[in-house]
Amino acid sequence: MTKRFEIAYLLKNDVSALLGTNITVKGWVRTKRGNKNVAFIAINDGSIIHNIQVVADPAKFEEELRHITTGACIGVEGKLVESQGSGQAVEIQAEKIVVYGEADPDSYPLQKKGHSMEFLREIGHLRLRTNTFGAVMRMRHEMAYAIHTFFHERGFFYFHTPLITASDCEGAGEMFHVSTLDPENPPRDKEGKIDWEQDFFGKFTALTVSGQLEGELGATALGKIYTFGPTFRAENSNTPRHLAEFWMIEPEMAFYDLDSLTQLEEEFIKYLVRWALDHCKDDLEFLNKMIDPGLIERLKSVVDTDFVRLPYTEGIKILEEAVAKGHKFEFPVSWGVDLASEHERYLVEHHFKKPVIMVDYPKEIKAFYMKQNDDGRTVQGTDVLFPQIGEIIGGSVREESYDKLLTRINELNIPMKDMWWYLDTRRYGSCPHAGFGLGFERLMLFVTGMANIRDVIPFPRTPGNANF
Ligand code: ATP
Ligand code: MN
Repeated sequence: MTKRFEIAYLLKNDVSALLGTNITVKGWVRTKRGNKNVAFIAINDGSIIHNIQVVADPAKFEEELRHITTGACIGVEGKLVESQGSGQAVEIQAEKIVVYGEADPDSYPLQKKGHSMEFLREIGHLRLRTNTFGAVMRMRHEMAYAIHTFFHERGFFYFHTPLITASDCEGAGEMFHVSTLDPENPPRDKEGKIDWEQDFFGKFTALTVSGQLEGELGATALGKIYTFGPTFRAENSNTPRHLAEFWMIEPEMAFYDLDSLTQLEEEFIKYLVRWALDHCKDDLEFLNKMIDPGLIERLKSVVDTDFVRLPYTEGIKILEEAVAKGHKFEFPVSWGVDLASEHERYLVEHHFKKPVIMVDYPKEIKAFYMKQNDDGRTVQGTDVLFPQIGEIIGGSVREESYDKLLTRINELNIPMKDMWWYLDTRRYGSCPHAGFGLGFERLMLFVTGMANIRDVIPFPRTPGNANF
C-alpha cells in the first residue's frame, strides 16, 4: 500500500498537492451505505472526530464489501479527490481494500447511534470508539498538555509525589490499604492485632488521597511545584462527581498568600478553558450539538468574567436570606455548616451567575494544615465553585507556624507519629506558602459538558465497579 495518512491530516491541512495521487487511510468503519452502483464507507481512525468517505465500486469489491460492516477495521488505498457530496472536502476512490478485522454485525454492540451512557458504561472496552468518547478522550489529552504548558511557562516544576503512603492523617477511613500480607491469615501481634511490621514496607501503607503534604516539601525547596497524578479515595460517594480513582493537579507555591493563591486559581482555570476553546474546536462543536447545547457559550462566559471572591460568612448570609425569602434547600444552612452542593450551586448559578471563589472557612470544617486567621475561627481555605459542577478546586494558604500547627494537630487528635517529616518543614526555614488541588475529571466535566464523571475518564472506578 502507498503512504498512510491520518484522517486529521487530510481534513485539517491544505492537501491540494495530494489530489489525484494514490494514498492510504486505515481505520474503523462507522457506516457503509450505497446501492448496486456505488458504495460509500465512512472511516474513522480516532485522530479527529470526522470520518473520511471512501467511494468503492461494488462490482470490483464485492468480496471485501461483504466483510465490511460497522466496526470493522480496514485499510484503503485509492485516489484522493475533491468530494462531490457536501460535508467533507476530500474523499477517496478505492483501488485496493484490505480488511484487517471484521466485526460480526450480529454481536458487535455499537450498531446504532444514540446508545445511553449507562449502556455504554457496560461496554467500557468499546465505548471509546464512539464519537462522544473519542471527543472526550482527545480533549483529556489536550487538557493534560495545557496543564503542563501552563505551569512550565510560569516556572513551576513537575514534582512526583508517591502513590503509596504511610501517612494516614489526611484521609483516615478513606484510604485503600496496600499490603502483601495473606488476607486469610495475616500475622498477629501479642494483642491479636494485625502485625503490619511484617508487611512489605514494615508498616501500614495505603494509596494516597492527595500529594499535597509531600508537595509542600517540594515547594519549600524548589519554590513552585505541581503534581499531576492519580489519587485514590475509598469514600462511598455514589455521585456523578466522585470517583474512587481520579487524577489531581496540585500546585504548591512558596511565598504565596491568599490573594496570589486565588489569582492563580482563576488564571489557571481560565487558561485551560481558553485552551479548550482554541484547540478542541471540532470536538467541542460535536459535544455542543450532541451533549449540551449550552456548552460553548458557558465556556466563553467563564473566560470573559471575573470570578467572585466571597468570604464564607457572606455566603452564608446570602443563603440564609434566600431561605428567609422561601427558597427550599434539602440541607439546613447556618454559620459553621459544610456547604452542600445545592448551596454552592445556588450561589454560583442563581445568585452570582458566575464562578465563585469562596474563602475564609470555619476552621472546624477544613483540614488541620490551613492557615488560621486572626479572628480565631476561620482559616484561609479556598474552594472554587463552578456552574453545573460545584467544587472544582480546593486550596488554602498553609499554616506555617510550628506552634499553631501542632496545637491544631493535638486539638484534632490527628495521628502524626509518622509525620515528623512534615512538621520539620515548619521547624527548619518555615515559609509562608499556599497551594490547591484541581480534580482533573471535574475540569473535564466542565469543558466537555458531560453529566457524569464516569464518562470523562476511560475506565472509571467507583464503589462496586472496577471493570475493564
Ligand atoms: P468534595 O467535597 O466534592 O468531595 P473534597 O472537598 O473532598 O471535594 P479536596 O479534598 O479539596 O476535595 O480535593 C481537591 C479536588 O479534588 C476537589 O476540588 C475536586 O475537584 C477533586 N475531587 C475530590 N474528591 C474527588 C473524587 N472522589 N472524585 C473526583 N474528584 C474529586
Ligand atoms: Mn470529598
